[in-house]
Amino acid sequence: MILINDQFIKRNQDTHIDIEDRGYQFGDGIYEVVRVYQGKTFRLDDHLDRFERSAKEIFMELPFSKTETKLKITQLIEMNNLQDGIVYFQVTRGVAPRTHAFPQNAKPVLTAYTKKSPRPIDQFKNGIKVVTVEDIRWLRCDIKSLNLLGNVLAKQYAHEHQAEEAIQIRDNTVTEGSSSNFYIVENGKIYTHPADHFILRGITRIVVEEIANKLGIPFIEKLFSVKDVYRADEAFISSTTAEITPVIQVNDKVIGNGPGPIVRAIQEEFQKLI
Ligand code: PMP
Repeated sequence: MILINDQFIKRNQDTHIDIEDRGYQFGDGIYEVVRVYQGKTFRLDDHLDRFERSAKEIFMELPFSKTETKLKITQLIEMNNLQDGIVYFQVTRGVAPRTHAFPQNAKPVLTAYTKKSPRPIDQFKNGIKVVTVEDIRWLRCDIKSLNLLGNVLAKQYAHEHQAEEAIQIRDNTVTEGSSSNFYIVENGKIYTHPADHFILRGITRIVVEEIANKLGIPFIEKLFSVKDVYRADEAFISSTTAEITPVIQVNDKVIGNGPGPIVRAIQEEFQKLI
C-alpha cells in the first residue's frame, strides 16, 4: 500500500499523479526518509521537525499536522508489515497550470511509501572508498528539497569511479556527501562542517553529536579542506541508511589503518540505540 494525502491505496493499481503536479515539473516540494528497525521508526519526531522546517523555508503549508502525519506514516508501516527498511514521504506544492510562481489555489500533495532494505553491514565493517567532486548545488542545502540533481550527478560520478560516495568540495572546503554528512577525526576529536545553509543537518548527524557528547569525544563544527582529510586519522559518513560508515580511502589516499577506534566507538553506541 502507498499513501496519497489521506488515502491508503494499492501501488500501480489506483495511483494517479497529475502531469502538472509541481513536484513532478519543478521539484517544488520537500521529503524525508526515515529508517524502520524491527517495525519501529527511528527518530521520526526529528524527521518531522525537519520536514516542517523545510516546508516553512520554501513558504509551503503542509496538508497535515505533525501528529496527523505521524499517525499516517505509522499506519502505513503497520499496513505493509514493514520490519526492516525505510519509509519515504514527500509533499509537493500541488497541482496547477504550469507557471513558476506559486499558484493561488493549489493544495499540497502528500505521498508516502515503504521499502524493505537490509542494513549495509559489510560497509559498516569494512568501510568504503569515496571520491571528491565539486559542490555545484544551490545555496540552500539545509532544505531537504526534491531538487536533487546536483546530488544525483555527484553520486553517479562516485559510482563511475568505483566509489560508494562523493564528498563535495565548495571553495576549497569539504561540505558533505551526496546523500550523507562527512566527518574526519584528528587527535581524538571529530570535525565536521557547521550546520549552515551549505549542508543538510542530518538526523544521524544529531545522533553522532549526542553520542560524541556521551563518550566525551569533542564534536567540532569547523571548515576543513581535502588536505586536512588526507592528513586525518579517521574519516566517516553518516545518514539514515548508511548509519555510521567508516571511510577508508579518499581518492587515491588511504586514510588511517582501516576503520579507527573513534568510528568504532560511535558505531557501537549507535547500535545500542536502534
Ligand atoms: N546530506 C545530504 C545531502 C543527504 O541527502 C542526507 C540524507 N538524507 C544527509 C546529509 C544525512 O541526513 P540524515 O542523517 O537525516 O539521513
